[in-house]
Amino acid sequence: MLAGAGASGELSRMPSSLMTRQVERHVGDVRLTGRILYLVDDPALVRSQLAGTDLDWTPAIRLRDNISTDEITPAYICYYFDETLGDFPYLGLKAGSEFPITRGSVRAGGFVASVAGKRRGKGSSREQSPYAEMCAGIRLVVGESIERIYRENCQNLGVLATTDTSVLERVKRGEPIPLAVFTQGEGRITRDIIEFGGLFNYNVARLQNRVSVPACTTAPRPMTIAEKVFARHWVTDAAQGRMGVPAVRPGDEGFFQTDIRFSHEYVTPMAAIFFDQLVGPDEPLKDPSSIFFFRDHLTFLDQAMRPEHVEMGLLDVAAQLEKKQREFAAAKGVKLYGQLEKRLNLTGALASAGSEAICHSKILEAHALPGQIIIGSDSHTPHAGAVGCVAFGVGTTAVFNSWITKDVRAQVPPSFKVVVRGAKPERVTAKDFMLQILRHPYVKDGHAIGQIIEYAGEAVEALSVDERATMTNMAAEVGAFTGIIAPDARTVNYLVAQRGMSRTDAERLCEGLASDPGAEYVKVIEIDADTLRPMIALPGDPGNGLFIDELPGPVRIDIAYAGSCTAGKKEDMDMYARVFREGLERGQRVAAGVQCWIQCGSREVFEYCRQQGYDHVFADVGATFIEPSCGACINAGPGVSRKPTDVTISAINRNFPGRSGPGQLYLASPYTVAASALAGRITAWEPEGAPASV
Ligand code: SF4
Repeated sequence: MLAGAGASGELSRMPSSLMTRQVERHVGDVRLTGRILYLVDDPALVRSQLAGTDLDWTPAIRLRDNISTDEITPAYICYYFDETLGDFPYLGLKAGSEFPITRGSVRAGGFVASVAGKRRGKGSSREQSPYAEMCAGIRLVVGESIERIYRENCQNLGVLATTDTSVLERVKRGEPIPLAVFTQGEGRITRDIIEFGGLFNYNVARLQNRVSVPACTTAPRPMTIAEKVFARHWVTDAAQGRMGVPAVRPGDEGFFQTDIRFSHEYVTPMAAIFFDQLVGPDEPLKDPSSIFFFRDHLTFLDQAMRPEHVEMGLLDVAAQLEKKQREFAAAKGVKLYGQLEKRLNLTGALASAGSEAICHSKILEAHALPGQIIIGSDSHTPHAGAVGCVAFGVGTTAVFNSWITKDVRAQVPPSFKVVVRGAKPERVTAKDFMLQILRHPYVKDGHAIGQIIEYAGEAVEALSVDERATMTNMAAEVGAFTGIIAPDARTVNYLVAQRGMSRTDAERLCEGLASDPGAEYVKVIEIDADTLRPMIALPGDPGNGLFIDELPGPVRIDIAYAGSCTAGKKEDMDMYARVFREGLERGQRVAAGVQCWIQCGSREVFEYCRQQGYDHVFADVGATFIEPSCGACINAGPGVSRKPTDVTISAINRNFPGRSGPGQLYLASPYTVAASALAGRITAWEPEGAPASV
């Protein structure tokens, strides 16, 4: 089926620069001219390559395995968002115990290809990594194995990626290489994207009606809720803006019309540069009313940046992220949830201020509706699945392309179901459900990666939408494509109370959004809520779950952090306040030597706390109540640890090494974080009147 039908309808609303833009499909050979950089374990061999000596590589020379995107472009490098990134690829690469790659050395080396070992590009989905490689001259990345998102980001940018090391001999000899080497085994759309040199060129060809998109031919079948949402949004005619097919099945690959697209300051500026350069600074975005930008990750950065990075001028570089996003939003008419005004603190200095809202918090509070497709520039985009959306994270190029097309490429993933049966004990929360799910072997061993996790069962149905969002948010830690919960009467109540929607409208939105009997799941996991007890995740990984009463001994804490998108919702604040109020009645305050921070997900939650009088409770108990922002959750605000021996109990969603400073980070529920702050050690909350058990 062709993807368009002439210059009418949607096509006529394409940016004019794209209607005449020349893009070509390449199906023959590619010739890659330049040197090959082998990323090896031996730092001396890395240095000699950078100095100009070609390495005569043999399998006896160990390639570096597990090169993460953090090593390719460390987080502080991602404050850059233009071609300057080409100065920095592999700056965090550890070879032996050294970091042999310095600023500019890869670009100066004249390399066209770089070679690594297994699991190249693991970790964060940041597209800055392949973009930095591309800007340094690398056109081919080779790995013994390559991580899925990194490979997809390469394809979207037009960087060739392969696990076939035999191409290296041809590069050395300067021989042409058939493009088929890089497209074999790929689906039709991916193959076309590679042949057009990236997602943008492919989309231009698609919207010019010069490339056909495979039709969805799946016959009607029982579907999961997520599959139903995908089927409703399948783009059947991009040029005319038509969508909807009777059914989809896992593996179907197509484009899906989005309802909401959002991005934050780490991603918007780079996507904006792509737009300005490739589409044109004066061209409009498609339907800007359904695009949202957020200044949420770095508003408190000045309180957390390491002195050596301040000396490098990185605070000023990071400030450009805010400026570029703000200016682009104003130019394109996009709603920006921005940074709050800085205020004078008690010493008369300008204090850093927070954000209007963390992206996920505000999307759920104010925008997401049942049955929508939402894409965001962040792995925790599944948060909005709490009201029955298919919400998932995408890379920079996909964000930028969605500004032009309003759709997104995806392959329908398989679904697996987690059924939480029974009734949970009062002191057990959605966070405890998640820590239990994350230590399940199916999840822990990586079988859930890329799948859709559908939560169901009486204990899930009994949760509020806020608590459901904790579960869908942490689909990211599961490694899932997204998480979703079927909308029900609680969802309707939420939409009526939170959005002021009429009950009739809310009910209509939820109609038909349930999985069919006979829908296929690759796995069903059952959990008995009655048997659960408060949990923690030991430092290092959210999958290190343990019942608190199984800790071998007391764990003293230095920091208690209560916030983030996961745990900065109204109901989370209810939980912190309840524990603290009970503590105050017993004469308790935050334990001596413990710093306790409370940080809301949005100004709306902040105001809710004031209305409830929680701000006084937090002050009376000795906790510090700060403006909304990602802050400590991304190692960029109050509540970060300062030294390896610091111990933190935190309500955030992940505790990978370094996530919130160099210390030991334990994950727990809001109840546990507050109870531990009072006790000065990790402890579970005991509801008033209940027998002590921990
Ligand atoms: S609060 Fe943490 S997890 Fe949530 S969006 Fe911000 S950095 Fe990401």
